[in-house]
Amino acid sequence: MPLFETESLVLKTYNLAEADRIVVFFTREHGIVRGVAKGAKRLKSRFGSTLEPFSTVTLEYFQKEDRELVGIRRAELLRSSFAAASEPAFLHTFSYVADLLIAFVPPHDSNETLYRMVKACIESGSTTQGELAATRVYFELWLLRLGGYMPDWTTCHGCDRKLAPGETADIKADFHLLCSNCRKSRGGEVISGTHREIVRNVLRLPPREFAESVSAMGESAAEVSQVLKRIISGVIGREVASEKSFAVNF
Ligand SMILES: [Zn+2]
Repeated sequence: MPLFETESLVLKTYNLAEADRIVVFFTREHGIVRGVAKGAKRLKSRFGSTLEPFSTVTLEYFQKEDRELVGIRRAELLRSSFAAASEPAFLHTFSYVADLLIAFVPPHDSNETLYRMVKACIESGSTTQGELAATRVYFELWLLRLGGYMPDWTTCHGCDRKLAPGETADIKADFHLLCSNCRKSRGGEVISGTHREIVRNVLRLPPREFAESVSAMGESAAEVSQVLKRIISGVIGREVASEKSFAVNF
């Protein structure tokens, strides 16, 4: 039976049988991995508190060829998010992140860049609702970008012209942009220069600095998030709920 060791983020845990748990990991080297932690529900489990959601661990597991669930042999805590995860806003944000990752990333499909992005989001130290809302936009955009689903919003899709910094463009049904010369009718949904600046900032800044940059942009970041959620919904084939109650807290 092949044995693997890789740094991993704990995404979710479920109870299984009497004393066991199923744990969903996002691993650095092998993408999403689901495993059984035998005896993890016991008081004196050898896993201790290492399998709490959003912890970073060194994971050792073995894989049987015909089983989707791996056997977890060892998990050593590298970084705990236990204190942060007791805050409802943090839990809400990263449960959302975990659900989207599980929906988006096929099991055992390695994606180290995505791994590093998610880890940076968890470790960014964001705690306020505004910072966490910014973290969600950051995650949504990178998830789409790394999956190859994010249209290029720097140019007009009709004439290939680079859009000017403050220029407003129409957004098409396929989420590409059209400049005012190329659009066929008026009154459609638009993407402003501010919206595009938010996208640019996500792509050039670490999550913490992005959260600081976006606080002055208020509603615009929430509007970008609405569009990203629609793109994500199309990719995963189900509606991603919008979060109006959080959006106002930028
Ligand atoms: Zn154009």
